Amino acid sequence: MARVAFIGLGNMGGGMAANLAKAGHEVIAFDLSKDALDRAKAHGCTIADSAEAAVAEAEAVVTMLPAGKHVADVYRTNVLLNAPKDAILIDCSTIDVATAKAVEGEAEAAGFTMVDAPVSGGIAAAEGGTLTFMVGGSDEGFERARPYLEAMGKAVIHAGDVGAGQAAKICNNMLLGATMAATAEAFVLAQKLGLDLQTFYDISSKASGQSWSMTSYCPVPGVGPETPADRDYEGGFAAALMLKDLKLAMEAATAAGAYTPMGGEAAELYQRFVDRGGAAKDFSALIKMIDDSWQVPAENKIKG
Ligand code: NAD
Repeated sequence: MARVAFIGLGNMGGGMAANLAKAGHEVIAFDLSKDALDRAKAHGCTIADSAEAAVAEAEAVVTMLPAGKHVADVYRTNVLLNAPKDAILIDCSTIDVATAKAVEGEAEAAGFTMVDAPVSGGIAAAEGGTLTFMVGGSDEGFERARPYLEAMGKAVIHAGDVGAGQAAKICNNMLLGATMAATAEAFVLAQKLGLDLQTFYDISSKASGQSWSMTSYCPVPGVGPETPADRDYEGGFAAALMLKDLKLAMEAATAAGAYTPMGGEAAELYQRFVDRGGAAKDFSALIKMIDDSWQVPAENKIKG
């Protein structure tokens, strides 16, 4: 088992670090928040006073930070100056492709092997060790990172060279944002056309309009499997995070010269939803904005 530095013990990183410790690794944890450090300690991690101290003798460094600027700052001012050169560097944050490539280039120039390994799955998957990792980096980097990622997830997929993990993540989430918006619209229209919503679900979930947004994450309470819609859109994947990922996708599309009108429309819709106070709600709550008068007929609510 290895000595693993873990920086960024928030909603996601807290559970991930706990799973590395559970797998038998010696996890040396650092975060700017004392509460996060206390929680990590309760889950078997050793607390470091600084990022420098956390990485000093690490065999692997895992970071789970909010955005590109935090990742660039932590790597440039700490990790690349203080970690042993033979430590494998793994950034699991969701950040822009350009920053991911820049930081990985600097790591390589400094003699390190680094991969980007963003995740699919939310807080429950982080705690349960069932995340999906999409990894960008060399074959060697992927193989070195894999055992650590397997201790935190159910699937570890090599997406391609550096930055490819971030690219896969934002393309997937752009698709998710657009299909959720389209699914919400279809239910609102169906209701206005007088269709019973359960009947529309029964038809569309077996017809060509089917998608993950419909059959695994239906935005209508009481229809389909149990989802955040059945808990007043609490928990799940916050609309603010969906908006963050859509903005990253739009930045990447501009840089790459890709035409993404559906992604752009989804980004605008989520921006409006967040501006109206929806940031903390699950992203499927967009349906409430699409039809402000949204009322779920009593017969569609879960009984009992
Ligand atoms: P979070 O804000 O809960 O946690 C981030 C942690 O980083 C905080 O505890 C913060 O104190 C710490 N931090 C910030 N700057 C630091 C620094 N310089 N040194 C040390 N610690 C620092 O965020 P989260 O929900 O855990 O998300 C982390 C990443 O995972 C984000 O990039 C997010 O987009 C991505 N993600 C989140 C989810 C989700 O459902 N929450 C799902 C998939 C991916």
